[in-house]
Amino acid sequence: MNTCKNRCLVCEGESLEVLCRMASWYGIKMFHKVAICRDCGHIQAYPLFDEKEYSIVNRRFFGRKYLPDGQQNPDNSKKERKLNEQLSPYLREGLNILDIGAGEGWALDYFRKHDCRYFAIEAVARLSEAIRTRGGTVIGESLFDDVRGYEHFFDIVVFRAILEHMLSPSAALSRVRRFLHPDGLLYLSVPNAANFSIRKGFRTSYLRPVHISYFCEGNVLRLAHSAGFRAVRSQSSGAELSILLKRGSDKGLKNHNYYAQQKHFFRQQYRRAFVRDTFQIVRLYAARIRHRHIFADGLNEEKD
Ligand SMILES: [Zn+2]
Repeated sequence: MNTCKNRCLVCEGESLEVLCRMASWYGIKMFHKVAICRDCGHIQAYPLFDEKEYSIVNRRFFGRKYLPDGQQNPDNSKKERKLNEQLSPYLREGLNILDIGAGEGWALDYFRKHDCRYFAIEAVARLSEAIRTRGGTVIGESLFDDVRGYEHFFDIVVFRAILEHMLSPSAALSRVRRFLHPDGLLYLSVPNAANFSIRKGFRTSYLRPVHISYFCEGNVLRLAHSAGFRAVRSQSSGAELSILLKRGSDKGLKNHNYYAQQKHFFRQQYRRAFVRDTFQIVRLYAARIRHRHIFADGLNEEKD
């Protein structure tokens, strides 16, 4: 497992170069650096947070994200359409599906329509209870829980919008691999760091402390390969990378260095959003001063 806070999460190189600072309400401090690896072009939070810092960041951010009890996010049709595009050719009756980081379990109804058996891993107790109530099986709170009996059990594992949050994405993928049946399929999706919107800001919105990694397609494939996967299909159009993987190795995969193109793209987005970001940073700074009692105790728990 990668334990060094200043080491690249993709190639494990130690030659990281600071690109800029993000500014966020949810960070331990208002600013946190983002760096690029000179050896592979991967972009990540710098330094990496430790477990305690990151759990505080997550609690601040996700504490505001989910809707109150019993309500489902009404905007699930788009996510369901994407799931259908990727997985419909592979679905058949009786498959065991694992949805990691299932959230409110919006995918449960989709898989049930296809007569598949739905299992979930979900950390938030209220959400996992809602999944159970609707007939899903929750097997754990975390990918790293001891879930004996489910090794190599699942025909399809859904791992959407999680890998970019992992302090050790390589260990996470290795763990996912253990759940997968030898012929099983992993549906991995991450935000595309080579194509994204800065409509709400670059340093103040796109870059955010809950995201540890900013993957381009080549580097997420490299990481998956090193964790024992080969790509069946990879789509990089739009702001999301959607990748279908199977266990195995991809001998044809070459490791490129995306340093120049990723640095150029991020610097370009920095300049494009400069005025908007500066305005947001001033507002954010004033808000953090106004609410300094929340942040004054540093790593201690917030008292809402
Ligand atoms: Zn690297």
